Amino acid sequence: MSSAAHDTKIRRLHTRKSKKASLPFAPEKVWIDKKVADHPQTIRILNKLKNCDYDVVDNVKKLKRPSDLSAAKKQMVLTYHKGDAFKPCQGIGNEHLCCNYRVIDLISGCPMDCSYCILQSYLYNNPRTTVYVNIEEILSQVATFLSKNSQKFFRIGTGELGDSLALDPIVEFASVMIPFFASKRNAILELKTKSTFVDHLLDLNHRNRTVISWSMNTPEIIESDERDTASLDERLEAAKKVAAAGMGVGFHFDPIIIKKDVGEMDRYIKVIDRIFDELEPKQISWISLGLLRYPKDLPNLATQRFPDTSLFTGEMVPSGNKMRYLRFIREEAYRPLWEHLKSKLPPHKIYLCMETPAVWEKVDPTVKGNSCIEKRLCNTESINFDYQAKPTIF
Ligand code: SF4
Repeated sequence: MSSAAHDTKIRRLHTRKSKKASLPFAPEKVWIDKKVADHPQTIRILNKLKNCDYDVVDNVKKLKRPSDLSAAKKQMVLTYHKGDAFKPCQGIGNEHLCCNYRVIDLISGCPMDCSYCILQSYLYNNPRTTVYVNIEEILSQVATFLSKNSQKFFRIGTGELGDSLALDPIVEFASVMIPFFASKRNAILELKTKSTFVDHLLDLNHRNRTVISWSMNTPEIIESDERDTASLDERLEAAKKVAAAGMGVGFHFDPIIIKKDVGEMDRYIKVIDRIFDELEPKQISWISLGLLRYPKDLPNLATQRFPDTSLFTGEMVPSGNKMRYLRFIREEAYRPLWEHLKSKLPPHKIYLCMETPAVWEKVDPTVKGNSCIEKRLCNTESINFDYQAKPTIF
């Protein structure tokens, strides 16, 4: 038993060792908050993890402390989310333009392992993958918010503190969320992933209220710095399945990496061309662009774990609470990608993620504020239905 077990008064229930994980990313160890030990979602998740070692914990807060991240990624904590699990994206309200996105925290942590992942910094004090089993309560917060703000339309996602689908074969939250959003008039759900775990979602009744999005990068960066994620070909294959099922598909080129100079954007242009070889523009809800940015402590944390990574070699400057490439480099890097995307997709389906008004001014001067980006993305072509034309609740 680990040292955490000693100081958390853990009641050991069973130990069933796995010979071979039958589920992708099945944890080696599950810690169960005593308060949710009998919760139906806990029982359902444990039934899927029959070969896993698990313990019930009296005080789950004592598990929140720094520990080796690679080991912590193989552990799962089942608990409940107190307070507000539904909130504005962290981009809202700072000096960068944001699309007024909202996020739902259902999972914090990720079993995949990207060198640039900001969770290495954000979750430093709480690195174990945490799953909030009170999903129904959390969705009722969302339902109340949507009905109180029925005149507005919202894009809502789950991928802020982890990958939306990497653990879905185990937790199956997407199968709850997609029908929930199908019943809503004024919101669309976005599930962002680097996995291919979509097969279990294809037959769900989504009513055009779900977009599944892939983070995209060059095959070289995927190979060198996105450990345990799907390859570019696999992501595109999964996106084709989702499009064939009638759901929206999105892509996020984020983080775009400049190691030496903006000539490297040619590699990203090839990836854009791959997308349009495989999908029709009308099947794509949106594509975003976001250059590498990170909290100041990230290079130190990441290079301790991945000494061979060359991601942190570009010249960066402090901007807000993050490090970013110099502004003129960002403008030069975005311009060819934006122009290339514009030749394939209407401009209202393209946006920059968390960029300054000054950079937007150079890339697309028609965009003047958050509500402008929001309005462009919530057009009927992107979301594939006209929510304003349907005044009654479905
Ligand atoms: S897939 Fe996303 S959340 Fe997971 S390690 Fe990579 S960047 Fe972090």
